[in-house]
Amino acid sequence: MPKQIEAYCPYCKKHTTHDVERVRKRKASELKAGQRRFRRVTSGYGGFPRPRYEGREKPTKRIALRLRCTVCKKAVTPPSIRAKKFEIVEE
Ligand SMILES: [Zn+2]
Repeated sequence: MPKQIEAYCPYCKKHTTHDVERVRKRKASELKAGQRRFRRVTSGYGGFPRPRYEGREKPTKRIALRLRCTVCKKAVTPPSIRAKKFEIVEE
């Protein structure tokens, strides 16, 4: 995947150059509602709220991207893609 691509920007209402950013999972904030619920549910008796996932690991991973318009600096999230391997290369 190239570092910059031509894509439609809904803010500029035309195709412009976009910087490609990989969206990575960040550490869950202890103040977020989901994390508070997780702490409450896992505390005390009774263990993990969801059953442990069984089976093979998926051969492809879903890759989340973010396209940032170089003209207006706004970001758009394109539909995610699946790939075994993904890297952003300089052209
Ligand atoms: Zn734009």
